[in-house]
Amino acid sequence: HAKADGRKRERFFTGEMEAQMQLRHALEADLRAAVENEEFHLHYQPLYDLAERRICGFEALIRWNHPVRGRVPPMDFIPLAEEVGLIVDIGRWVLRRACRDAAQWPENIKVAVNVSAIQFSGSDLTQDVSEALAAAGLSPSRLELEITESVLMENLNEVLPILHALKDRGIHVSMDDFGTGYSSLSYLSSFPFDKIKIDKSFVNDIVDNKEAYAIMRAIILLGDALGMRVTVEGVETAAQLALLECEECDEIQGYHISPPRPVRDVPHLLCLPPKSGGATASPTLER
Ligand code: C2E
Ligand code: MG
Ligand code: MG
Ligand code: MG
Repeated sequence: HAKADGRKRERFFTGEMEAQMQLRHALEADLRAAVENEEFHLHYQPLYDLAERRICGFEALIRWNHPVRGRVPPMDFIPLAEEVGLIVDIGRWVLRRACRDAAQWPENIKVAVNVSAIQFSGSDLTQDVSEALAAAGLSPSRLELEITESVLMENLNEVLPILHALKDRGIHVSMDDFGTGYSSLSYLSSFPFDKIKIDKSFVNDIVDNKEAYAIMRAIILLGDALGMRVTVEGVETAAQLALLECEECDEIQGYHISPPRPVRDVPHLLCLPPKSGGATASPTLER
């Protein structure tokens, strides 16, 4: 009996795996078509400077509107695009579009673009970046590239010289999702980062949980001590913002400021009144 059950289960799992494979293949084919048909577009999420109390930049986040499936979140196709190498074309498109969009914004507004590990090894990233900037007529100092921690650790020797080359051209580089990878903290000082973005998982409990707050504080101070700008991702409430206003935190990003929006909303977002958690706002200074 048990044996029969086992066989049935085996067949069930095999069937499920086959279905998964088919889904993957279908998705891959669709992804290739999407590149050709330009089914992607970008949304922009504000980066909010706490000292200046204004939006100082926008992060470009890719969106895929599939003709049948509807909206496919980046987490459902970026990893696949990386595996099959399509991320190189997609990444190039993102860079060009983001630079072109940013060229329409005020001079003091930057644009941040996510770059995948594959773009470091599978293409000439510095060349692609230079071309995107030149085509848009955008100053390199207005572009930030976001790189996740795990990307670095995978091929340190390959990535480091490219990071330095980008920085030599005046482009800013940020470490994204800080704290989610497995790099040792001591590594942080050996990278030429201008900014660290603390992963949103660290902000969740800072209001209710002392330990979570202590960890957040420590990471912010670490980044600051290493001379980097510090951004906290995933800020969703005024209470979280209020706590971060007391720290050496330079920038926040999150639904509390705004979710990612289509590019046409950028002018409107730039007109929003300043946001504050209220903690450091002294009534006399307010007037
Ligand atoms: P990321 O670079 O860390 O981007 C931040 C993600 O957090 C975005 O998800 C954003 O919508 C989400 N987010 C922002 N504020 C909040 C908040 O307050 N609460 C919560 N819960 N989430 C918030 P999204 O757009 O789904 O992108 C997910 C990831 O996909 C990005 O994480 C990035 O790693 C990757 N990605 C997006 N666009 C690109 C791209 O053009 N190229 C590459 N290589 N990766 C991309
Ligand atoms: Mg990012
Ligand atoms: Mg992130
Ligand atoms: Mg600082």
